[in-house]
Amino acid sequence: MPLYVYEAMEPERSCEKCRRGFEIPQKLSEPKLDHCPYCKSPVIRVIQAPGLTHSQTDLHYRAKRAGFHTLKKVDNGTFEKLY
Ligand SMILES: [Zn+2]
Repeated sequence: MPLYVYEAMEPERSCEKCRRGFEIPQKLSEPKLDHCPYCKSPVIRVIQAPGLTHSQTDLHYRAKRAGFHTLKKVDNGTFEKLY
């Protein structure tokens, strides 16, 4: 089963799990989450390159957070689904 990574859209209103990003196994046929299962705040699915080690993943999260506004603009389809 593929492992998907989700991250808080509004980190200041989110729990620690989604603020940092969490992984969840989902079937391809399952709809993607739009809310954190822990705190119910909106989350966005992070497209993750395969084969990253854990520490590289961590860096990836930080880099993505820094460029979050760019991501929102580029990944418009995903962003719109959250509303
Ligand atoms: Zn949460």
